[in-house]
Amino acid sequence: MYYPFSWLRSTLRLALYLVAFALIGWYLDDMLVAVAIGATILLVFNYWHLYKLNRWLWHSRKMSPPTVKGMWEHIYEGIYYLQRRNRNKRKELGALVKRFREGSEALPDAAVVVDAKACIIWCNRLARLDLGLKWPQDAGRRIDNLLRHPDFIQYFHTGNFKYPIEVPSPTNPNKTFEYRIMPYGEEHLLLIARDITRVSQLEEMRKDFVANVSHELRTPLTVINGYLELFPEDQEQDPFVAKALQEMTSQTQRMQNLIEDLLVLSRIEASSERIYENVVNIPAVLSQIEREANALNKDKGHKISFHVDPDLTVFGVETELRSACSNLVFNAVNYTPPGGEISVYWEHSDNGVSFAVVDNGDGIEASHLNRLTERFYRVDKARSRKTGGSGLGLSIVKHVLSHHNSRLDIQSKVGEGSRFSFVLDRELIAEQL
Ligand code: ADP
Repeated sequence: MYYPFSWLRSTLRLALYLVAFALIGWYLDDMLVAVAIGATILLVFNYWHLYKLNRWLWHSRKMSPPTVKGMWEHIYEGIYYLQRRNRNKRKELGALVKRFREGSEALPDAAVVVDAKACIIWCNRLARLDLGLKWPQDAGRRIDNLLRHPDFIQYFHTGNFKYPIEVPSPTNPNKTFEYRIMPYGEEHLLLIARDITRVSQLEEMRKDFVANVSHELRTPLTVINGYLELFPEDQEQDPFVAKALQEMTSQTQRMQNLIEDLLVLSRIEASSERIYENVVNIPAVLSQIEREANALNKDKGHKISFHVDPDLTVFGVETELRSACSNLVFNAVNYTPPGGEISVYWEHSDNGVSFAVVDNGDGIEASHLNRLTERFYRVDKARSRKTGGSGLGLSIVKHVLSHHNSRLDIQSKVGEGSRFSFVLDRELIAEQL
């Protein structure tokens, strides 16, 4: 029968024990010696139990404590209770870790956990297969010593994990992986590597297909256009034939514009030209665009003004930047109702150099703004068709700017006008002319 521990009872028991020895001592006429003998027996008894406790804790294989009585029973029971509790906790934790590992082994992606010092704590089976990690040999080794692709090393050290990166597989050069890093807990990082070989192959095929189709369509269209131009404008021509010829000419022109834009877009997408290699004289580019805009403006009557810093040149790809700037300027000319005001700016800004086209046209509803740079997205299809727009202009601008590490900013208010602008980083500013 187990009694809960009571200080009062055990103090009383000790007092009774000592009183009994004191009484014997009183009877034998030496109380002090009798009490000393009693205390020594108690000391030896307690040392004996200490010895047994030590043996049980360090040398015994038995989990259950030896059967003893008194205060020592409480001590044994207390330690036994703590041991049982720890064992259960360990079991629960073990089960949790096992479930987590089983879960992550079931992931279709390679997963690696690294600590604050970039050392690998754990990785799943796919990480061993696809990333070539060895387990347990690589535990504790730095991940950037094992995954050596320069793009990954730069991505890892920059610490900006907002977007994933695409890198060829370290074990199979025919495979492409998307690496995504997610920080969690106390400076731990979870690296997920997904096989996107098929997706990137399809993307390549799509790009090639668009480029090839556009290229193949170009020749027959040029031929048709050439023949259409050969037809003389005859006053006595049947009005139906005259209308048909005019419509055919304008539609083939539209198709040619579309194909030209598709080809430009494909070229930019496939472009591997480095932006730091050539200096682009944007003021000269803009003066040519100004002439073209004025020609386009003939029957619109806009007031177009260019505010260009004549010394501001940048590193970049000239054809691409020309295409981006001209698209923005021509859009303003095309979509601003006649007699509007259009201002074009090329000047220093806080973070670098900014290009802006501001018009006082009809403006664009906020719901369209996010989608304007999508391919073939047009606010008013009928009107765009009339202007000869392909719906690819802003898509081209977006790609050009992303190639130059910038992005298009569109501000517009219905009835007040629009502002299309972008900022090129100050690192791209070339030496003054
Ligand atoms: P498109 O080739 O049809 O001009 P874009 O991609 O250049 O295509 O433009 C997409 C749409 O954005 C256009 O159809 C037009 O509705 C709208 N847009 C572009 N620029 C302006 C502007 N300055 N003012 C008003 N609407 C504009």
